[in-house]
Amino acid sequence: MLNSPVLTLNSGMVPIDICNVKEAIVLQVLNKAEAIRVDTSTNIHSQYLTLPLPRVIMLFNFHKIPKKRVAYSRLNIIYRDDMRCQYCGKRFRMDELTVDHIIPLSKWNSVPPEHRPEDPNSWENQVCACRRCNTIKGNKLLYECRFSLLRKPVEPKYMPYLVISRDRANKYGWLEFLNYNVRIVEAIDTGVSL
Ligand SMILES: [Zn+2]
Repeated sequence: MLNSPVLTLNSGMVPIDICNVKEAIVLQVLNKAEAIRVDTSTNIHSQYLTLPLPRVIMLFNFHKIPKKRVAYSRLNIIYRDDMRCQYCGKRFRMDELTVDHIIPLSKWNSVPPEHRPEDPNSWENQVCACRRCNTIKGNKLLYECRFSLLRKPVEPKYMPYLVISRDRANKYGWLEFLNYNVRIVEAIDTGVSL
C-alpha cells in the first residue's frame, strides 16, 4: 500500500508528478505538502501518527512545471501523431499501431540528401502507421504506393509532462485534477507502464 501512486500537484494545482504513498506522507510530515484527496477507508499508521491514505497531494511553495525534453521513442512518435495512422488518417488502439520509416532504410541511399531528413531514425522520418498501411507500404517510397502524409512529421516542441491512463486516474480519484499538463490515454494503451 505504501507503494500506491499519489498524484502530485504544484501549488497552482497543476499535476507535475506521481509519487508513492510513502513519499507523500513524508512530504506531509515535513509540512511540504497537504493531501487534498484521501481514501478515508484506509488509514496509514506509524509510530507517531495516523493519516488517511493520500491519493492526491498539493505541494506548498512549488509553482513551477518542470520541463521535460521529449524523448525520441517509438511511443512518443505514436503520441505525437495522436495514435492516428498518418497514411489512412484513422485512429487505432496502441496494439494496432506501428512506427514506420517514411523513407525505408533500404532506400535511404537512393534518395538525394536534399529530399530527405538528415537521419533515417528521426522524428522527421518516422510516423505512426496502422498495421494495414504499414504492410501495404512495405519498403516502398510514398509515391510508389501513392501514399501521402496527413501532416509533415516534426520534432514535438512540447508534450504533456505526465501520461496517465484513464483507468488509473479513475481508480485513484485523480480525474478531476487532470486538466492541464497531462495526457489522458485510454486503457487500450496496454503493455505500457503508466
Ligand atoms: Zn492506416
